[in-house]
Amino acid sequence: MKAVYIEAHGGPEALTYGDRPEPQVQAGEVKIKIKATALNRLDLYTREGGRGLNREFPPPLILGGDCAGEIVEVGEGVAGHKPGDRVVVNPKLTCMQCAQCLAGQDDQCQAARFLGSAIDGSYAEYISIPGINAHKLVDSVSFEQAAAAPTTYLPVWNMLARRMQLKPWQTVLVLSASAGVGTAAIQMAKDVIGAKVIATTSSAEKAAKATALGADVVINYKEEDIRERVREITGGAGVDCVVDHVGADFFAPAFASLRPGGRYGICGATTGLRTELHLGLLFSQQKEIYGTFMGSKEDMREIVEMLNRGAVKPVVDRTFPLAEAAVAHEAMAATSFFGKLILTQE
Ligand SMILES: [Zn+2]
Repeated sequence: MKAVYIEAHGGPEALTYGDRPEPQVQAGEVKIKIKATALNRLDLYTREGGRGLNREFPPPLILGGDCAGEIVEVGEGVAGHKPGDRVVVNPKLTCMQCAQCLAGQDDQCQAARFLGSAIDGSYAEYISIPGINAHKLVDSVSFEQAAAAPTTYLPVWNMLARRMQLKPWQTVLVLSASAGVGTAAIQMAKDVIGAKVIATTSSAEKAAKATALGADVVINYKEEDIRERVREITGGAGVDCVVDHVGADFFAPAFASLRPGGRYGICGATTGLRTELHLGLLFSQQKEIYGTFMGSKEDMREIVEMLNRGAVKPVVDRTFPLAEAAVAHEAMAATSFFGKLILTQE
């Protein structure tokens, strides 16, 4: 089958479009003909081999995790799926046997593996994955939109609903609205929870898109001071919650924008992994910090319910043919997009 894979770590030129063996369906698995796969920062980090993602070659590794497509074959012992079903894939595979998995907290499984990072992924014609990681889509959800959902919506839903428990009468600050996580956070905070949303972004064009998506106020961080603007907007009080997926560059002003007792959620650190925390302000103002990494299988089930009912509509910026994965990687590195970049196949 055709696939995009790496045989060594490197830049976009390390991506090869060529032939790899077609996966054979195992017991408990479903084989899927992939129609759309979404790019994530993890794909770039895996390609580069930084951030603890160095690996041995050979064998080559097919990149990609978030995907959607049609089931073509069902393995022994799989219930609830049949050939022809349109599905979206949860790219995090968990053991379903450890204490965390048995407690329904499989987002904390220590044996978890990611498609396209630990094992072959979705930049390919076919993939074979555990049946419990495939979720049925209604016809009104496009493969492109479905593929855009898992890695952006899972940490956001885990963070906003489960860990921080954002309420409809509260205000949330969403950092960097234009990234996939930013767009997901605006939609879930506004359309599902009903909270007031303050978003940050870097241009008037992106600010207009964030407003169209549901942000009540948008701060252009290139021209305005985040902390000062949040103080003005909230009448001096500060926000109840922060959604951070960018890390080092914005942590200080965002943490200072929280009201006493506020909750700070972080699910990514694209601008840098290290920062300083003022411990006195943490305890004297009784602030809370939550780290979230993807979500549980129940979070994924709830997200697919939202998708299927049209409660959230993932934002797709652009699509590229699978063979042009390297061009898509360059576009992601340039951060000149609003929403998700998607690789598509016939
Ligand atoms: Zn487990």
